[in-house]
Amino acid sequence: DVGKDMDEHISIQRVMPAFRVNFADGASVTLSDDEEKMRKELDSLEIDGYDKYRRYMEMADINLDAGLPLFIEQDWEKGLPVLPKFLINALLHWPLKSHHDQLGEFFESDRMKALFSFQDLYIGLSPYTAPGVFSLLQSIELTNGIYYPIGGFAKIAEKMKTLCEDMGVKIHYDTSVSQIQADPSTRRVQGVRYNHHPSEGEEEEEEKKKKKKKNAEEEAEKNSMSQKKSHDNQLFSADVIVSNADLPYTEMELLRETPETMRDGFEQREKKFKYSSSVVSICWAVKKRYDTALAHHSIFLSDKYRSSWDNVFEPTDRPDLVFPDDYKDFNFYVHAPSRTDPSCCPSNHDSIMVLVPAPPLAEEGGSLEDIRDAEERLKAKAREAVIKRFEDAGMTDFRSSIVDESIRGPLEWKQLFNLRRGSVFGIAHPMDQLSLFRPSPEHPKLKNLFSVGASTRPGNGVPLVLVGAEQVARSILAREDELGAKPAT
Ligand SMILES: Cc1cc2nc3c(=O)[nH]c(=O)nc-3n(C[C@H](O)[C@H](O)[C@H](O)COP(=O)(O)OP(=O)(O)OC[C@H]3O[C@@H](n4cnc5c(N)ncnc54)[C@H](O)[C@@H]3O)c2cc1C
Repeated sequence: DVGKDMDEHISIQRVMPAFRVNFADGASVTLSDDEEKMRKELDSLEIDGYDKYRRYMEMADINLDAGLPLFIEQDWEKGLPVLPKFLINALLHWPLKSHHDQLGEFFESDRMKALFSFQDLYIGLSPYTAPGVFSLLQSIELTNGIYYPIGGFAKIAEKMKTLCEDMGVKIHYDTSVSQIQADPSTRRVQGVRYNHHPSEGEEEEEEKKKKKKKNAEEEAEKNSMSQKKSHDNQLFSADVIVSNADLPYTEMELLRETPETMRDGFEQREKKFKYSSSVVSICWAVKKRYDTALAHHSIFLSDKYRSSWDNVFEPTDRPDLVFPDDYKDFNFYVHAPSRTDPSCCPSNHDSIMVLVPAPPLAEEGGSLEDIRDAEERLKAKAREAVIKRFEDAGMTDFRSSIVDESIRGPLEWKQLFNLRRGSVFGIAHPMDQLSLFRPSPEHPKLKNLFSVGASTRPGNGVPLVLVGAEQVARSILAREDELGAKPAT
């Protein structure tokens, strides 16, 4: 806790309705906290649909109460958690069931089951492989509510950056780490090797500054890492390293020069990892509004719900072949934040982001050129399917209303953010990769190396990543002497 109040820096607003779900035949359901409307909507899908939903949510709330301390907040480095007996009973009753089977205890129709399980994608699993405890996601979204930071997620990063800099944190931009340097004899990491390549704008800015001010201070600055000049393979020494790059990449790329014995056989263990899906992401700027068809959060589901999940999690070098031929067989998520935050686009325009689940990339396969070609076909297929579903949902003239677009596929996600296999949600969250079974944030051999992020504990998603980062920060602060960490000056 650094004594800052989030509310003073970021405005958070509840998203209402929570989301709208569109089925392939054009039917749709809107989920909100308006009991009367919800009863009408859910009873239209299944007899006593609303009452069944309430019973399901009671169980989902218990799973959140139990799952939060056990799977999310528990710092396993500190030992085993103590849970109330009723929560242990709740957990013992569910964990081995898949989320889909668990839903079968409450609902009969596939649509009701689909309504409360597509969120499993957030944890990189299908409803057929996700443990039942992940009904806690519905509790988070529907009982506690979905909240949106005005200005978008970028606003949070921007505010955190300002607060960090105000508190003396030095951030090195346009700098990528190429290696974490370890000393096997001491079982410690010594620092990072980095490449600094200033962006064009930054170089120009620096040139101007240099012309203005050629003084001694600038000379000293030349020797520091923040020097605005290309650097390759420089060493930045550190007492403690916390790697925020995806854990498999940290181990397999950044530590590649470190002997295998110091990496606890990571390469072998990694072969058994199950990875989350990737996505084709599409961002559109549109010169028309589609408020009736799209809520802030909308989901478009295939009616072939089960088969539509097949292959989305199997690594492949030809993801384009896995995508269905019929545009109605895609599942996808749509974000249209201007319903909550008008600042994100000009009036009478819309800002839309679509995520189409796609398989992770196979480790071995065709040439990079072949994978790139497959990716282009994959992106084109996803784009076309989404536009057709939008048109079916009454979004007339959508295609001709697009004024700008950017589309990113698994290979681009992999290359841009060093995400192994292009898995955008890190390693998946099946039972054998959850909590204690998930890679530890503390390196097994190198005692001053830590990891934070989606592929370590507790798991994927911004809130979980932040919970993990806080635990790591507290752990380092509590062990400054043991780690040989000198406070920053
Ligand atoms: C399209 C999309 C939408 C999402 N929406 C949501 C959402 O609405 N809510 C939610 O909770 N989660 C969402 N997620 C998931 C969420 O973004 C991730 O779980 C989260 O960002 C993971 O955090 P991280 O710190 O592990 O990785 P990142 O946020 O990717 O941070 C890791 C950083 O390390 C940097 N890095 C990597 N390698 C190096 C290197 N060698 N040198 C220097 N820097 C390096 C990367 O550039 C990156 O900036 C979404 C994910 C995607 C892809």
